[in-house]
Amino acid sequence: MNILEIKNLDVKYKIKNGYFQKEKVTNAINNLSLNVKQGEVLAIAGESGCGKSTLANAITLLTPIQSGEILFHDVNIQTLKGKKLKVFRQALQMVFQNPYASLNPKKKIKDILKDPLMVNEELCIYSEDYRPVYELSKNEINNIIEQALDTVGLDKSVMNLYPHEFSGGQRQRIAIARALILKPEFLIADEPVSALDVSIQAQIINLLIKLKQKFNLTIMFISHDMNVIRHISDRIAIMYLGQIVEIGNTEDIFKSPKHPYTKALMDAVPSFHKKSNIILQGDIPSPNNLPEGCKFHTRCRFCMDKCKTQIPTQIQCGENHYVSCFLHNPISKSDDKFKTE
Ligand code: SF4
Repeated sequence: MNILEIKNLDVKYKIKNGYFQKEKVTNAINNLSLNVKQGEVLAIAGESGCGKSTLANAITLLTPIQSGEILFHDVNIQTLKGKKLKVFRQALQMVFQNPYASLNPKKKIKDILKDPLMVNEELCIYSEDYRPVYELSKNEINNIIEQALDTVGLDKSVMNLYPHEFSGGQRQRIAIARALILKPEFLIADEPVSALDVSIQAQIINLLIKLKQKFNLTIMFISHDMNVIRHISDRIAIMYLGQIVEIGNTEDIFKSPKHPYTKALMDAVPSFHKKSNIILQGDIPSPNNLPEGCKFHTRCRFCMDKCKTQIPTQIQCGENHYVSCFLHNPISKSDDKFKTE
């Protein structure tokens, strides 16, 4: 069952720059469609600038969309108002990339964890008799905060400390506790370990796996690190210039990647697919000036004439495995010169 459905999403930013303040349009997300199943970890992978964080911001209503629909439990989130919007915000929480910037340095940990409860004081999810948060006593609130800290492996004695007294890994645990304190169904983790040391990354990934099982969480895990993604995800969506170019089960994508961009991402990880050693040439094109046809054609070593003018449609290339590339179009399959293996 899908908990989230994204249909033909477009997100554009308008920016003014230069002496004449000329307006430019940045096409951050381009006609993107995607489903997330309840209880799964869906990884969104791609280089910096491919639109991963914009996608997260659109889903959490932090950035406006130009067209398309985002359905959460079959309800278009753009139509939500008042209490329904609050319920949505409680159900869908986010952990940000930088644990040094995402915690208020002036607040004690107990106040950082108390804030979401106070903002959602009408919530009735904490007491057995379903009293709203504003009816709970100070002791009851403190117990909720202690439990949240315990869930992420921190002792209650840290409640009176400030964020600067913690390491990066501990701060990210606090950020996760803050996201989970409202008992969400859906967690968006936007590069949650990229600012951390490798040893600490493993701790946070294992914690997210444990919490997913404990609370039956659905997680959208955004990362550019294929090693980390392989460890945590059930499915992977590969993103390039605001579009999904390949999506499938993690095992299938790692065993048999189809899109040239996916293969290049895998080859960027030292231990994977050393047979072909594809090295991506050039930088990701500017989203202010998107290439015609297949968006990847300016960097693709298999580029054909039609790739420069026609947009490849998404086709099924296995069970739950889809790719957008003319190489997997039945017409070009017979042509040996385009074989990628
Ligand atoms: Fe490369 Fe063409 Fe496939 Fe795009 S459609 S990835 S340019 S082969």
